[in-house]
Amino acid sequence: MKRIIKFLLVTFISAYTLTCFAQENSKPAFTADEVLRELMMGNANFVQEQRKDKTEKSEKRESSLEKGLHPIAVVISCNDLKIAPEFIFDQKLGELFVIRNIGNVVDSNVLTGVEYATEHLQVPLVVVLGHTNCDSIKTAITEDKDLDHVLHLFDELEAVIEESKGQEGDLLENTIKNNVINVVKDLKKSKPLIKKQINKGEIKVVGAIYHSETGEVEIVSE
Ligand SMILES: [Zn+2]
Repeated sequence: MKRIIKFLLVTFISAYTLTCFAQENSKPAFTADEVLRELMMGNANFVQEQRKDKTEKSEKRESSLEKGLHPIAVVISCNDLKIAPEFIFDQKLGELFVIRNIGNVVDSNVLTGVEYATEHLQVPLVVVLGHTNCDSIKTAITEDKDLDHVLHLFDELEAVIEESKGQEGDLLENTIKNNVINVVKDLKKSKPLIKKQINKGEIKVVGAIYHSETGEVEIVSE
């Protein structure tokens, strides 16, 4: 009898370990296009003030997090307090891998985060999310460049600001949009991993702008 119990126990543990292993190493549950559709539907819920997790109980949230984290998208966004990616895409805790910095620029730290999420967590979609009325980008355009923190940001954005000065329309809005498009381009060129993943159709990188006046997210680069 003891032997039978031991056998059943070992079989159960092996099956459980394999299940976990399969979850960690299996293909992503969703394609990039499916995830993008889900995020845009979530944004429509947000705009209409019909977020689905409004009534979610904290115990339910905790138990779903305990099952393991399986984010569906990476979102690179600005630090601005007006933006909360989980809110504006109507996603629960653990569903988005959010990387934030001032002006949503790309640097080695951001690249490390994107590579970790796409390679180890098999996240199929990367969204570069700029936003209207970005105070950080406004600062880089208008403030005194002798201030250390402004100079650092200006260095990151100088080429985009110069490009935007030659375009018709509002300089700030053009710079915000061009910055998103440039970050998408930089990510798509990033070797060896991200470029390879895109070429193999494993991941997709898109650029978007969050309109803080309406709550809407607009795709500006695919
Ligand atoms: Zn900003």
